[in-house]
Amino acid sequence: MDPEALEHLDGTRGRMRIEVLEAWAGASVRIAVPRQLVCASCEGGGCDRCQRSGALRPPPDGSLSLRLPRALGEGVVVRVADPFGPNGTVDLLLIEVRRGDVAVGCCLVSISHDLAASPQPRARVELVRVALGVALLVVIILVLSLR
Ligand SMILES: [Zn+2]
Repeated sequence: MDPEALEHLDGTRGRMRIEVLEAWAGASVRIAVPRQLVCASCEGGGCDRCQRSGALRPPPDGSLSLRLPRALGEGVVVRVADPFGPNGTVDLLLIEVRRGDVAVGCCLVSISHDLAASPQPRARVELVRVALGVALLVVIILVLSLR
C-alpha cells in the first residue's frame, strides 16, 4: 500500500471506474463523477464510514481532471486524495482506469505532444463539438418557432 493510501486509511474511500481509448494513455481527461461512489472500505456492503449505505455521495455535478498514466496495461487504479477538496465527503478516490473501444465516464481534455500524431481522438472531439453546436441550433429554432 502506498503512503498516500495509508494516510487516508481512517477516512472515506470511494471507488469508480472509467474506460479510455488506448491512444489516451498519458493524456488529461475530465471525469464526470457519478452521483454515488461505491464505498471502497466495504465494497458496497455497508460500514461505519459510509453510514451502512455502501455508497458515498460526492458533490452534485462533480467533475475531476485526471492525468492518465502512460501505461494502462490491463487496467490501473489511480488514487486521488481529497478529490473534492479537504472538506469533501470523500477522502480518497480510487479510479479504476481500463482500456475500451469508447470512452466511458470521461472525456479527453488534452493529449500529450508525442501522442498528438494520432489524429483519431482529436477528430472525434471536434465531431462532438460540431454535433453539440447543431443540436443547440435546433433547440433555438424550435423555441423561436413555438412563440
Ligand atoms: Zn462502507
